Parts: sequence; structure tokens; C-alpha cells
Amino acid sequence: MKKNPFFTLIVLVCLLGFKTKAQQDTFKWPEGKTMAISLTWDDGRESQVKTGTPILDKYGYKATFYVLPDPVEKHLIDWKKTVSSGHEIANHSLTHPCSGNFPWTRSNALEDYTLASLENQLLEANTRIEKSLGVKMTEFAYPCGQSFVGRGTNTQSYVPLIAKNFKSGRTWLDEAPNDPSYCDLSQITGMEMDGKNFESIFSLIENARKSHSWLVLAGHDIGEGGPQTTQTAMLEQLLRYFKESGTDIWVAPVGEVSTYIEKSRN
Ligand SMILES: [Zn+2]
Repeated sequence: MKKNPFFTLIVLVCLLGFKTKAQQDTFKWPEGKTMAISLTWDDGRESQVKTGTPILDKYGYKATFYVLPDPVEKHLIDWKKTVSSGHEIANHSLTHPCSGNFPWTRSNALEDYTLASLENQLLEANTRIEKSLGVKMTEFAYPCGQSFVGRGTNTQSYVPLIAKNFKSGRTWLDEAPNDPSYCDLSQITGMEMDGKNFESIFSLIENARKSHSWLVLAGHDIGEGGPQTTQTAMLEQLLRYFKESGTDIWVAPVGEVSTYIEKSRN
């Protein structure tokens, strides 16, 4: 029998509807919230503490900063202030190793690492930050979003290392938010907020709201323009939106949300 395309469409819509319903029934965000959002920035860049945290503090929202010890130690007073304002400090490695396919990191390429040498530098970063900021880092973001060491048949995933040493690991340039009832906390997705206006971010929020997901936004610098920069105008508008109309959204640092998810699953 030839299938009626309308029938197929109706079945698909029903299936999608049931999935969302099932997700809603099995996982509950705190205080009846519809979804969660975490604002995250990487690399411990100066603009995050000079430009970003004053804006976040003005609206009273807490973010997660995935840092490296070197840039933090260069602007220690600002980073200490960031900690005392209640923001989360998380691990982004010691030397930011990525694939040597990026010419700027060829002498520090993931292809040349072993799991042991990589683990050493992640733990060293923990020690350095604990010494400088008095913070124990429990969350991690993969530099360049890459999670392997070695090459070819000798390639190994370092996701298990992150699962062993951290509560969560965030990737980068992903296409979908996290399903709290299913996602692997060692590979939570991060969607880009650099260079985007409020309308683009708002459509990501609308999408995550429909599926009651956890949207983790990820950026680098915070300022007016330039590459890898979260626009201050977008950030102000987003935080105003949270205050005025986004009251069904739980806005919290990654560590808080991942702890909540872990507890809910247990
Ligand atoms: Zn980075």
C-alpha cells in the first residue's frame, strides 16, 4: 500500500510530541522552570573581568569562566573579585593544547600528547588555580572543543579522563542544547554566542524552551566587536530579557546545573 505523506507527517509530529512530553514527565527543572541556561566564557581573557563581570553583576547573574592559570595570575585582583562576586571558575587546561592542524599550536599539539601527559597538565592547572584563587575546579571545557590525543590508529579519547577528574566537560561549536535526562555530563554541548545579536540567541532559547533543555552558551572576549567576541549590547539585552520576561528560565553556572542533573538522575 502506498503511504499517504500526510499520514507519515502526522505520525512524525505525534512521535516528536511524545518525546517532548516524556522528557517533561521524567525530568523536572527546579521551581517549575521550563529550561536552563548557563553563560560560559573560555581562556580567562582580560575583557571577561574588565568588561563582562561588571555587566553580569549589574543584573545579578552568575557565569562560568573556563580559565588557564597564566592569564588569571596576570590579572589576579580582577579574578579574585570575580570569585567573590559568586562566578564559577573552571578548568580549561594549563597550556590550551589543540590539534596541531592549527599552526599556532603545532608545538603543543594534541597529536603529541598521551593520556598521562594530558592528565598531568589538567591536574597542574587545578593546583595552580587553587593556589591563586583558593577555588577547587570541578568543571572542564575542552580547548578548541577537541577531546583526543594521538593520531591515526593510536588516537585515544580523553573524555574518560574528564569523567574521572571532573563533574562535567563542555565541548564547543555544537548544534543542539543538552537533554538533561540523557546527555553525557562529560560532553555537554556548548553553542557559540560570540558575534551574535540578541535575535540569534533568542532563537536558540526558543528552541531549547520547546524541548525543556539546557542551553550552554559559550564565548571568548566580551566587548563591542572583533573576532571571538560576545557583543556587550547582546549581553545586556539578554540579561534584561532574563529579568523581565525569561522568568521560566533557570540561569545558573554549569557546576550548579550539572550537580542538579546528577542528583535528579539518582
Ligand atoms: Zn579556549
